[in-house]
Amino acid sequence: MAKMSARSSSFSHRTVFVWSDEYLKYSFPGDHPFKSLRESMLRKILETKGAFHEIDMREPEVVDESVLETVHSRGYIEFVKRMSIRGEGYLDDFDTPAFPGIFEAALIRVSGTVTALKLLKQYDHAVNIGGGFHHAKRDAASGFCVFNDVALAAKLAEKEYGRVAVIDVDGHHGDGTQFLLYDDPNVLKVSLHMYHTNFFPGTGNYDEIGVGEGEGYTLNVPLPPGTGDDLYLKAFDEVVVPKVRQFKPNLIMFVVGGDSHFDDPLVELRLTTLGYLEIAKRVHSLAHEFAGGKLLMTGAGGYNYDATARSWAAVIAEIAQLDPVEFEDVHDCCMMASSPLAKEKVLKVIEELKNIHGL
Ligand SMILES: [Zn+2]
Ligand SMILES: [Zn+2]
Repeated sequence: MAKMSARSSSFSHRTVFVWSDEYLKYSFPGDHPFKSLRESMLRKILETKGAFHEIDMREPEVVDESVLETVHSRGYIEFVKRMSIRGEGYLDDFDTPAFPGIFEAALIRVSGTVTALKLLKQYDHAVNIGGGFHHAKRDAASGFCVFNDVALAAKLAEKEYGRVAVIDVDGHHGDGTQFLLYDDPNVLKVSLHMYHTNFFPGTGNYDEIGVGEGEGYTLNVPLPPGTGDDLYLKAFDEVVVPKVRQFKPNLIMFVVGGDSHFDDPLVELRLTTLGYLEIAKRVHSLAHEFAGGKLLMTGAGGYNYDATARSWAAVIAEIAQLDPVEFEDVHDCCMMASSPLAKEKVLKVIEELKNIHGL
């Protein structure tokens, strides 16, 4: 049974896990890489470890579809509804297929992130593993994402918390979130991702820093293929942590895609579960340092289902301060170094970012 670890400080880490079995319906058919099997595998790990003795579970409260208009156009919402009834074809250019009921399946997952945000009034940390659709745009689906719960929740959170930091560690650039909130100085958009010729979505270079009032409130850390735990954490410590400290968020949203893991079939970064744990420690600590602990974690991509579920379990165990010994067997054996080719590029990116952002 999981219990509070000895290393937990005087901070409170009360954590709620938002879940509905309806989440499992958001899963694309055939050989499409996005499967809800990841979420069910995570649940099984958490159950096996007795995590739900420590973590409360709540059902999402389904939001009225008008809430989607916070970040999406009415026309796009209607388009998704029509495609959901039709149940075939694509919502975008052949990445995001429609299936019968995709509107409701996407809506309940978005609702989970909104519910998690509301639950932060009662809890220190909230997890909606069914969220993290960071590629969805105002008028378009993209990269397996229908509705952008990250941008939507950040927009809602802004009213209550003032300054919100989104820290996105999915292996792909959080382009939807960035461009939906590009001119917004109240939301700091941080994304660390692989950046390479012809790699999806093609944006997220270090010189994309925001527009208008939002200038300086977007921080992209583009990483070359072969970036391992060592250089990822170096970039995190030297750029992300100081940027978040400078911003002083009152709420942190942590978008955790499992596709930065070295075993992911779509992304060529080299994080291990131990790397994810180290990142989680930093984000968790920033949340207690600035945001009174308020931390909202979502899932995101992740196409090696086992590696994704284990990485998520490692992050949740840290956030909720579950017994680390209980979670030892979710981890990879050891951390992974970067390829020699990656090193020079990452060091250059760190230098550029320090200059651009005055860190
Ligand atoms: Zn905590
Ligand atoms: Zn991804």
